[in-house]
Amino acid sequence: MKAVLVVIDGLADNRIAGLGDRTTFASAKHRYIDGLAREGFYGYLDACPQGYVPESMVCILNLLGISKEFYPPGRSSLEVLSAGYPLAEDEVVLRCNLISIDNQKRLISFNGGSLTREEMEKASEYITKAVSKVKFIPLADYRNLLVLKKKYFTHLNVTPSPPHENLGESIEKLIAPICSSSEIIKDFFYSSAQVLRAFKDPEHNYLFYPWGISPGNHLPSFQKMYKRKAAAVCCADIARGIALALGMYVPKLQGVTGDTDTDLQLKAKTACSLLADYEFVFVHINGTDEAAHKCDYWGKVKFIERIDEEFVGYLLANIDKHTKVMICTDHATDPLNGKHVHLPVPFFIREAFINGLETCQQIKSPADALQYLLSE
Ligand SMILES: [Zn+2]
Repeated sequence: MKAVLVVIDGLADNRIAGLGDRTTFASAKHRYIDGLAREGFYGYLDACPQGYVPESMVCILNLLGISKEFYPPGRSSLEVLSAGYPLAEDEVVLRCNLISIDNQKRLISFNGGSLTREEMEKASEYITKAVSKVKFIPLADYRNLLVLKKKYFTHLNVTPSPPHENLGESIEKLIAPICSSSEIIKDFFYSSAQVLRAFKDPEHNYLFYPWGISPGNHLPSFQKMYKRKAAAVCCADIARGIALALGMYVPKLQGVTGDTDTDLQLKAKTACSLLADYEFVFVHINGTDEAAHKCDYWGKVKFIERIDEEFVGYLLANIDKHTKVMICTDHATDPLNGKHVHLPVPFFIREAFINGLETCQQIKSPADALQYLLSE
């Protein structure tokens, strides 16, 4: 039997006083999801694997039934796949933020300081032209990747400090461990200061900061594991990277952005058409998490309403009635502080009649949910 798993990123949250003491989901109008809950089944599960903090990579891998032994050490090996660069065995990839430091050389921004999106694009262009021995891959805005050969490291067991967790710290101290493990990284880091001089202002000096080192991806094939031909509809680098790493077919779609301005109906249409050739379709919708990270709870409410009307409404009206549908979320993201929260998260299953209802009532974990979706 065919199945669609829809993961709405960061959908859950806590009650918000500004929304009349309700969650964003409770405040939003969602007649199609309500229909699922009424005629099908809904419950709660914990999508975050034990011993991990709730974030999309581990929660999505958990929802897709991938065990912890396969989890990559960081996101970069998945993001590089999403960027269309399959890492060779003799290469590693690092995340590489556009950061800024003050005149005392303290880290003051992990996300591009006061540069505009256009300036950040220019900065990426300048560095791409300036480097050799490393491959610089821009993702979006301040987020980039750096690929280089393993042989350029004296040792690979370095854990550079994430820039977003070290604001106010001395940059020399933060960069020292990774620079001591690779002369090439050291050269790249200090020459980035020269290249980015053009953007300097009285408060900000800019640099590219490499961290989050990862070897290539070794996730198992979804098709081999579950004997289901699988495809995915997603744009956010992490979800796209996971789907590609699991060997799923992931079409590139114009107008699908991974944010609240995405084309939701195109996502629904694509999911429906993929079901003609694939037995399992994974859909990831990211804008809810983006709105919550921007602390925009009204934006999150409005986007949930759009998901219901433009995505869920279309999907339910256009797929075969025997196709199993589950809508769930990976984790909660609180739009008051913009942070992920560890909470049980809701899921909705279409039309769980008599026999199906018993099975649905037993769904208490991501593994139970996947077993239900993959059962005949
Ligand atoms: Zn998030």
